[in-house]
Amino acid sequence: MSSLLVDNIAELVTNVPGAGEDGPLGIRRGAALLVEEGRVAWIGPGRYAPAADRRIDAEGGAVLPGFVDSHAHLVFAGDRAAEFAARMAGEPYTGGGIRTTVGATRAASDDELRATVQRLRGEAVRQGTTTMEIKSGYGLTVADEARSLRIAAEFTAETTFLGAHVVPAEYAGRADDYVGLVCGPMLTAAAPYARWVDVFCERGAFDADHARAILTVGQAAGLGVRLHANQLGPGPGVRLGVELGAASVDHCTHLSDADVEALATSATPDGSGAATVATLLPGAEFSTRSPYPDARRLLDAGATVALATDCNPGSSYTSSMPFCVALAVREMRMTPAEAVWAATAGGARALRRDDVGVLRPGARADLMILDAPSHLHLAYRPGVPLIRQVLHNGVPQCRL
Ligand SMILES: [Zn+2]
Repeated sequence: MSSLLVDNIAELVTNVPGAGEDGPLGIRRGAALLVEEGRVAWIGPGRYAPAADRRIDAEGGAVLPGFVDSHAHLVFAGDRAAEFAARMAGEPYTGGGIRTTVGATRAASDDELRATVQRLRGEAVRQGTTTMEIKSGYGLTVADEARSLRIAAEFTAETTFLGAHVVPAEYAGRADDYVGLVCGPMLTAAAPYARWVDVFCERGAFDADHARAILTVGQAAGLGVRLHANQLGPGPGVRLGVELGAASVDHCTHLSDADVEALATSATPDGSGAATVATLLPGAEFSTRSPYPDARRLLDAGATVALATDCNPGSSYTSSMPFCVALAVREMRMTPAEAVWAATAGGARALRRDDVGVLRPGARADLMILDAPSHLHLAYRPGVPLIRQVLHNGVPQCRL
């Protein structure tokens, strides 16, 4: 059994409360970490580190759990740079451009789609992401949704069926018929490759009745629930998600007091049930020049908050979790510690995972080593490539 020791760590973020200093990050100073069989085997003071077959010297840098990006749309073709330019010149974002990507995606070969996922996932890994959720949603036919998920499943276990992304052009004016297709043959074809079911619940996309129908039938097929909710305006999505026990409701930009209360009280009082996480996607507000969600309000109310990229070619073409952390701190009044927690442990909660987003014995050895002494630098030095090395299942991902 081969072992790997990471030592000379100035600051180890564990996300284990009580493991170190006060606060959500469970910070330990002067620590070392031993990896065996792709898992964390031991954490302790560097001076007590056991012998190992190999060693990585963190050189006084900080070590954090790998980012858990719980919301990304990577299976697509083409780009929408011209749409972005038009938006920056003053045109509003409506979500209608999704159909442009649908056309390009349907026309692409499997290998073209696979190459795009590989390229974007590679970008994300170099920026510290070790777990990534990938959605379908640009196929919108039975065959194209199934193939999108089949390709996504080559890259991640966290695959999400988003047949209800937008009503495709050929179903214009016949949303009920399209929802029937999604709930029937499309779900049947997609479910073998999907862990989750998702709906874009928004005016102009799918209303609460449609969303409920799709999510309920998806649940019955064994899929977990998550949804796009309250992005472009107020709506019923967040409360529907909480009602259905969704792992996460994503965007949460326009929330009523009742929405915030529903999220804050979504965990069962005895703690046995998992909360519905509010996943915030500030890359979307950045790229559509829209007001950011009020993270402070959610945190102060007691809701669980995650951060993710929403990586997609239309409204948020970034794969960078450090960028999202910096936006959350600067624009959404999250502290650096809250933002780092939300991008790691928060993302894991949004995927109902307890083996990632955390560094403790038994957890996956998914971590990043920074060229900086503290997690604070992720927001303090925005846009700077601070991530020197990434371990995924204990395997170094970056050439040094
Ligand atoms: Zn999305």
